[in-house]
Amino acid sequence: MQSAKRIQELPPYLFAEIDKKIAKAKAAGVDIISLGMGDPDRPTPAHIVRGLQVAAEDPKTHRYPVYEGTLAFREAVAGWYERTRGVELDPVSEIVALIGSKEGIAHISLCYVDPGDINLIPDPGYPAYSTGTMFAGGKSYKMPLVAGRDFLPDLSVIPHDIAKQAKLMFLNYPNNPTGAVAPKGFFEDVVAFAREYDIIVCHDAAYSEVAFEDFRPLSFLEIEGAKDVGIEFHSLSKTYNMTGWRLGWAAGNKNVIEALARVKSNIDSGVFTAVQSAGIEALNGPQDSVEAMRKLYAERRDIVVEGLRYLGWELEKPRATIYVWAPVPPGYTSTEFASLLLEEAGVVVTPGIGYGQYGDGYFRISLCVDKERIEAAIERLKDAGIRYDTDRQAL
Ligand SMILES: *Cc1c(COP(=O)(O)O)cnc(C)c1O
Repeated sequence: MQSAKRIQELPPYLFAEIDKKIAKAKAAGVDIISLGMGDPDRPTPAHIVRGLQVAAEDPKTHRYPVYEGTLAFREAVAGWYERTRGVELDPVSEIVALIGSKEGIAHISLCYVDPGDINLIPDPGYPAYSTGTMFAGGKSYKMPLVAGRDFLPDLSVIPHDIAKQAKLMFLNYPNNPTGAVAPKGFFEDVVAFAREYDIIVCHDAAYSEVAFEDFRPLSFLEIEGAKDVGIEFHSLSKTYNMTGWRLGWAAGNKNVIEALARVKSNIDSGVFTAVQSAGIEALNGPQDSVEAMRKLYAERRDIVVEGLRYLGWELEKPRATIYVWAPVPPGYTSTEFASLLLEEAGVVVTPGIGYGQYGDGYFRISLCVDKERIEAAIERLKDAGIRYDTDRQAL
């Protein structure tokens, strides 16, 4: 049986070749250090786990959940926005619970995109923006994120006719994979652009709490007029080490939230009520785990950046996210360089091409491993003679 075009059109799995090499190295007994996965390594804080345990004991949580999320969870989200960002939201009409933010990101195109419609997508970017677009029959217009523009898309170069046809614009700051952050002026330009062309902005704020020193990223919803033009996707995954729990939300424009809730009610039946109770514990409970998480990643980031600088890289320290985005040495594609690190040093990084063509000059290091392993990875690069300025022929 032929699979549907939407399956056939999925981008090829770019890491297949590297995965094969990893499997081979592991089989040969090589101790691989994987800096690939963006999946927090520390456990979910204990009070949140207890929140699930208590709620799961209550048979009331065992039946179908309220599709759009319990009122208590949505109130906790509204309270969190109010406390952390000064943003006021109506928990009933402006917030919907998601089975992780990826679920909402993948489904939002079904609400607004008809076959042939266009979405504006950052490149490099989180793959769910473009696959969700394609599943709805839409086309992605890629907005390049380049170092010279601080990895912010240049709205002024989007052709007028493309902007006029565009339905959604996906943005993500703090950004995966580049670690970039967005200043207020950029978001203000986005609101004006979205108004002019009647585009819905979908801001993915998964890393808004993973920010270092005194830097606190803006919520898109803090921008004047943002609620008129868009929504923000959010997640407990990175803030509270809850990637396995599948709990997130979308908040903002009530028409968009209503449309998303309507599509979802026809596909899934919401998030396990006990998981939402744990989410309330996370949002309303003590936040010292969040501060500890920031310190932990900042320390690991410093080891990575200082290590790479010692090896010839010129790098700024990212102000947020769990990633370091670094250029590959001249003469390599991102896949070639990732293969080199694996073969010569037993270190796995993610080649930038996995996030789009504009990612190709880069590789991504994830900070989700112990600092001892990160230090060991840097030592291995030193020992293997891998430097930013290494002559490719010499290796
Ligand atoms: C990790 C991540 C998410 C969060 O996904 P969940 O489904 O909430 O676990 C969303 N967007 C980006 C860019 C991410 O890296």
